[in-house]
Amino acid sequence: MSQIVGIDLGTTNSLIGVMDSGFPILLADSEGFRLTPSIVHFPVSGEPLVGRPAGRMKAISPERTVFSVKRLMGIRPGETGKDNFPFRVADAQGKTTIVIGDQTVTPEEVSTIILRKLKADAEKSLGSAIDRAVITVPAYFNDLQRQATKRAGEAAGFTVERIINEPTAAALAYGLDRLKDRAKIAVYDLGGGTFDISILELNEGVFRVLSTNGNTRLGGDDIDRDLVRLLEERITARYPEIRHELKDPLFSARLRELAHDAKLRLSDENGVQIEIPFLSGNRRFNYLLSRQELDAITRPIVRRTRSHCLRSMDDAKVAPRDLDEVILVGGVTRMPIVRQLVAEIFQRLPNTSQNPDEAVAVGATIQAGIISGEIQSVVLLDVTPLSLGVETFGGLMNVIIPRNTTIPCKAGEMFTNAVAYQRSMRIKVLQGERELAKDNWELGSFEIEFAPVPKGVARVGIQFEIDANGILHVLARDVSTGQQTLLDLASAVDVSDEAVEQMIAESVDHAFEDMSERVWTETSIKSNELLPAVKSALTLVGDQLTEADKQEIDGLVKAVNEALDSKDIQRLKSANAALDQGTQHLATLLIDRAMSEAERRRAG
Ligand code: AMP
Repeated sequence: MSQIVGIDLGTTNSLIGVMDSGFPILLADSEGFRLTPSIVHFPVSGEPLVGRPAGRMKAISPERTVFSVKRLMGIRPGETGKDNFPFRVADAQGKTTIVIGDQTVTPEEVSTIILRKLKADAEKSLGSAIDRAVITVPAYFNDLQRQATKRAGEAAGFTVERIINEPTAAALAYGLDRLKDRAKIAVYDLGGGTFDISILELNEGVFRVLSTNGNTRLGGDDIDRDLVRLLEERITARYPEIRHELKDPLFSARLRELAHDAKLRLSDENGVQIEIPFLSGNRRFNYLLSRQELDAITRPIVRRTRSHCLRSMDDAKVAPRDLDEVILVGGVTRMPIVRQLVAEIFQRLPNTSQNPDEAVAVGATIQAGIISGEIQSVVLLDVTPLSLGVETFGGLMNVIIPRNTTIPCKAGEMFTNAVAYQRSMRIKVLQGERELAKDNWELGSFEIEFAPVPKGVARVGIQFEIDANGILHVLARDVSTGQQTLLDLASAVDVSDEAVEQMIAESVDHAFEDMSERVWTETSIKSNELLPAVKSALTLVGDQLTEADKQEIDGLVKAVNEALDSKDIQRLKSANAALDQGTQHLATLLIDRAMSEAERRRAG
């Protein structure tokens, strides 16, 4: 059987590894480095350059050099606004594309080009063909982003065996030597473009993800952007007359590179001299950038990770003191200020035993080893980051798979028709944490048809299955006819990742209102069932009641109607209960009547 490689398809750098004699080994690319920059340069003619050679073109030909494309994967055009790329990002028929001269490429195609290089270089170094891969994605990648990553892998010639979450991969890298341990660990992963936090439990080789949280628009690129802004301010303060020069794409690209290099050096040094000899009219700009200045820029960006960490601990039901280790992953965690802020959040010094650039790729390789059977003592159990469900009667969210459920998983529920003789039912698949369907995202919807039957008789089973790649498959089956419909998620509505966070934040903020909306909807559904039932019972057997009984029931019906208008939940609950209680006798009469009718029929 062919070997399986593990791939970290990173925002900034990508890596590829393979199991060798039971050990995960990362492979060097054709330039001799394990870290291949995730950069593709499209020359005016000829084949694209990938990796380091492309990186060298970033400052020379910024509009033809694509980087951080992971930020655009599976993202709808309207949602790319915040990223300020030197290359042109456009919308072609509702799809995000990158415009290079008179050609366009999609983010997925750019990822494919990067993956092809990783594959070709690895094949050269191994001396054999490889066609199976495990690829990592941020835990917070939604379904479309995962699908796009998988397709990119397939287009590069891989069978994508598994898409795994980056923090989980990092935990595998950390835990491989500690298979006897029982421990709870947090993986804090701050990379170029994304932040992920996961809490995992290690228990004698079983890795269970307890919770996961993050933001796919937060990372080192934000620090670079703010540092460029600071340098631009300093330059214009000194030379206000060349303000317009700063807008030149070539100048911005070079400034960004200088800022980036300065940021890296300030992880080890206290100050760096920035020199820009390429301003017009023999102007030179020299500036001593201190670590304190960079810290001041970095602090607010890194502080934004705090709420994610707290939520993740809350979801995993752990306090900082319950954690055994906090593992750091992602290049940005080399910054002393980041380590300090992480220590404040988790109230302990983070563990820096893993190489923050390589842990994810090592973990992907270990997962490849688990799939190929080379590693047998490890089991990986991941979780789903948001609840999934369907809309039910009254516009409520009916959760089928709750957030943080271990995947792969399958769950189902039986639904019935709310209206007599309805011929079809629209199934809306929802994702989110809110009680009302309208506040969650609709991932897709489809119609299931069934034979017309009285209310409550149809039986439609809905099954949700999340596969090991975190991709959702929805199956609806009419139990009586066996007719099945499988939801085509290609028509799924994409949701931005900022919105994912916002969803969780809002679900907490609105928990009380949402709950009372749900209770109100459920209570009013009950009233709306009771009222017509009482009315029809009165028509059938009302003549057997005393006038006083009838008056009492009329009063109780009126009370329910008034309570419905008042929107007062407690009042409606008591009115329902009173009507229920006050019509017991009526219900008995109805049953008696039904029984004697049945008797008559039998006798006749
Ligand atoms: P990753 O996406 O994990 O490869 O992380 C890349 C990010 O880490 C980029 O924003 C890099 O600029 C940043 N980075 C890498 N090394 C360092 C370092 N020594 N100090 C500060 N940031 C770094």
